[in-house]
Amino acid sequence: MTTTTESLSAAPTLPPVTLRIGAESRTTGAGTHEHIDPATGKVDALVPLAGVSDVDDAVQAAHAAFAVWRATPAGTRAKCLLKLAQLVEEHSEDFATLGIADNGTARGTLYATVTAAAEWIRYYGGWADKLPLGRITSVVGAGGSFGHTLRQPYGVIGTIITWNAPLMSLAMKVPAALAAGNAVVVKPSELTPFTAMLFAGPAREAGIPDGVFNVLSGGPEAGAALVEHPLVKKVTFTGGPETAKKIAASCAKTFKPLLLELGGKSANLVFADADLDQAAMHAAYMAFGVMSGQACALPTRLLVEESVYEEFAAKVAAIAGYFKVGNPQEIDTICVPVINDAAIARIEGMVSRAKNDGARLLCGGERLGGELAEGFFYPPTVFADVAPESELAQKEVFGPVLAITPFVDEAEAIALANGTDYGLSGYVWTSDSRRSIRLAEALETGDVAVNGAQNAVAERPFGGIGHSGTGNEGGLEGLEEFFWTRVCRLRQRLEVTMGAFRHAY
Ligand code: NAD
Repeated sequence: MTTTTESLSAAPTLPPVTLRIGAESRTTGAGTHEHIDPATGKVDALVPLAGVSDVDDAVQAAHAAFAVWRATPAGTRAKCLLKLAQLVEEHSEDFATLGIADNGTARGTLYATVTAAAEWIRYYGGWADKLPLGRITSVVGAGGSFGHTLRQPYGVIGTIITWNAPLMSLAMKVPAALAAGNAVVVKPSELTPFTAMLFAGPAREAGIPDGVFNVLSGGPEAGAALVEHPLVKKVTFTGGPETAKKIAASCAKTFKPLLLELGGKSANLVFADADLDQAAMHAAYMAFGVMSGQACALPTRLLVEESVYEEFAAKVAAIAGYFKVGNPQEIDTICVPVINDAAIARIEGMVSRAKNDGARLLCGGERLGGELAEGFFYPPTVFADVAPESELAQKEVFGPVLAITPFVDEAEAIALANGTDYGLSGYVWTSDSRRSIRLAEALETGDVAVNGAQNAVAERPFGGIGHSGTGNEGGLEGLEEFFWTRVCRLRQRLEVTMGAFRHAY
């Protein structure tokens, strides 16, 4: 492992955070949050927190704008979204700068994220004027009637996202909602207010009317108020399962529909017949190089066939040792700080309990000190011999800690992989194509990637089951989340007879 602090103190001056409500940029809310730079541990901005009245104003603005946006010709909505995709790409430096400020994501990761976000926006811009709106459902002889479905936007979508990947979360939710004709109020995490605020600029420049896209920096209170607001007709949430339970309980009061993208403890199954060099590089990079383990769908459990177990575990730990940990501003940094002190405390607790549970530490395992001591830096940490029922095998760490467990055969690998409450992603490494198909079917996850295939691609649905959530983002499925379906029944003949009623009911 190499480390660096070069120019850690030379952070750019940050723009003031404002609440974007309709055409207004509001500078104050009901409170203030001290934003901390995870690389230095220092307060670098004061963020206004939306209060209940700000939430109401934003929802009212969105509700008024919904009428306009819904009546906007589909071709115009498509053009706005396609323009937005282009503008996001043109602002890639701004998204990189404020993305680093938000949560310490590595600059290299952010450039890739901007490209991916633009692809998601463009994908749903493409759908906006080709919406699968309705179909004839029946032709009934007796009453001479037929029906057709109407697929309509809900209205205002309450959009609550977490802090680890704000640009991707926006791109996975907002364009689909807007393509379907809804308006949105986004509440990013109070920890990461900058990216969503920046997104509002290109959205307006792209011609999306004021009020269709609103942003409220705010904490749990603002989130709860948004979920409860009667004019919010659907909620889409990305975050942790415990918060999701509270949101689900609130939605249950009025049967408000809810899309949940939650956590994961995804298994990566490596068979002895796989390309082990490729598989080891992938395992190490995915566990440590993507936001230092702070992403939902990462393969954080590595299950390895017994015959190559020791060799493979050593290979992964050795690769992790080459990753540069340090300043997210530098293009060659791979491992970045975790989000805050609370994350460090959670990781330290889980590492200490893993040791007590008998897991074997291969590398890492202690917070980085020296020049990195002020920031929230934790090194790539690899544990072998992790017991399947132990906390480290069952619970999401959301940090750079990888759990390795051996398996003897395919049946045991499947049982271990499916043996948690989560069901977000599955990963398989094998050169046996029949086995890859068997496993793709057997793993109880929203998606399965064989031999390093990419996930979260715009045209494919992404989502989990169990504690990983419900519903989809991406693909046609992700668009359909933002419609509700009605039926319109038309009767051709005017005579109403009891017979026709008897036939119908
Ligand atoms: P969290 O659940 O604590 O917070 C997420 C958001 O919810 C924040 O904006 C927060 O302010 C808001 N919030 C908190 N309490 C609320 C309440 N009572 N009502 C309404 N809103 C409320 O987030 P976290 O647990 O720190 O986030 C990390 C989690 O997110 C991990 O579990 C991770 O796996 C998951 N995640 C999932 C995906 C996905 O697409 N599946 C993507 C990224 C992260």
